Order: sequence, then C-alpha cells, then structure tokens
Amino acid sequence: MSTILKEVLAANAAYAKDFGDKAKLPIPPARRFAVLTCMDARIDPAKMAGLAEGDAHVIRNAGGRASDDAIRSLVISHKLLGTQEWFVIHHTDCGMGMFTEDTMRKLLANSLDTAMLDSGSWRDTGKGPGSTEGEFIDWLTFNDAAEAVVTDVRRIRAHPLVPGDVPIYGYVYDVRSGRLQEVPGASTAGAAGRASAGRRKAGVAPKKASAASKTARNASVKKPAAAKKAGAAAKAAASAKKTGAAKKSGAPAKKAGAKSRKKAA
Ligand code: ZN
Repeated sequence: MSTILKEVLAANAAYAKDFGDKAKLPIPPARRFAVLTCMDARIDPAKMAGLAEGDAHVIRNAGGRASDDAIRSLVISHKLLGTQEWFVIHHTDCGMGMFTEDTMRKLLANSLDTAMLDSGSWRDTGKGPGSTEGEFIDWLTFNDAAEAVVTDVRRIRAHPLVPGDVPIYGYVYDVRSGRLQEVPGASTAGAAGRASAGRRKAGVAPKKASAASKTARNASVKKPAAAKKAGAAAKAAASAKKTGAAKKSGAPAKKAGAKSRKKAA
C-alpha cells in the first residue's frame, strides 16, 4: 500500500470517528451558494470561505474555468439543489498561465510522463509513446486571472440554462495573502437580472414564463440520472425531516448525495 493511501485512510478513519451530527445533513447546501474555483492545492475553499460540511457546493477544475462540465454542475446546483448565489474564484500564480494549448499538446504527443519546468519552459523527458488526443481537448489556458474571471462569469451569465436572478460574483484569491480580491468587471457582468435580454434574444423563455413554456423547457433539458436521483433523495430527505423520520432515510439520502457529489467533482 502506498504511503499516501495509508495516510489518507488513517486520516479518514480519524475523521469518521467524530462524524457526529454530520450524518444527518441533507443534500441541498444549507447556505445555498456555490463556488467554482481552481483545483490548486493551495486553495482550501472551506477555510478560505468559511464553509462547514453541508454549507455550499464547491466545483473545482484546472483553472476554475466555466467549462461545459462546470456549468453542468452549477445548473444542477441551482435547479435541483437550490443554490441562489454563485462565486467564480480564480487565483494568483495559477499554473494555467504557465503553458499554452500548443505546449500541452506537444508535451502529450511526446509522452504521458510528468514534464519538467526548466527555467520557464516545459521540457518532456518521458520515454513515450505519447498521444495526439491532446489536440482534441480545449485546455482552457489563460494568461491573466482577472481577465479569465470576467470571461468565465460572462459565459455562465449568458448561458441559456442559467437563470438571470442568480448573482455571479467574480474574485481572484491571492495565494500569498489568503485574501479574496473582487474583479469588478466580473461582478458587474455577473449581476443578477442581466441575462434576461440575452436569453430573450436567444429565443429562450425568461424565468417568469407561462406554465406551458416552463413545461416545454423542462422537457427539452435532459436531466442526468444521478441528478434525478439526488433530487428525489433530497425530496425524500426533506419530507422525512418533516415527518420526523430523518433517521430512517438518512442512509439512502447520504448514498445519493455521495453519488451526485462524485459526478459533479
Ligand atoms: Zn490554478
């Protein structure tokens, strides 16, 4: 067993020992917000933003970019699990600014082994073979974190599946100070209510639509199976809570929650 695997399992055993009331947490985030941020190891969203288990959704990827998959998670986060405010948080010294699409593709074409950063430029020392599959992936690189936050907030804001009344805040986290710095351009672009014009232009019904168009819209959006399950489990958990049967439904709700979290991660 690898050292890391041993360490992680030991840490988990200690964590689970004092799990306590967290067993009763429902699936929907209690504080009804979501954070999209970078996977950078220096960012601890829970500590940086004061989160406890059950508080908020945290969606992470390389760069904290508004990729199709990040948007998929945000849409599930709001539509099925009720988040009402979203943060897009990039950070200083992001590794995504240290390579270009072309660099990544060439490195991968050479080998799949870990490349080396050699006085500012990447060098591939692997044996190979590599793969040209890298040509077909948009690596979503960027040079300027603040600019990328604006781009990402704009993309989320303009997305036809994103309701106009969810405010999207844009921030850059400073890895040297631990502080969040607002990106004013992003927060302006992400302000609630700004999407309706674009949505109307795109021929998508605005939020306060008739019941008929709502049904049509719902029918046209294919819900992922896991999200459906999570929604059903959330409902079950909520109704169980009302009837005081929370204990009984705790296990299936938790299971579904873990599944949906895994899918969204
Ligand atoms: Zn990063």
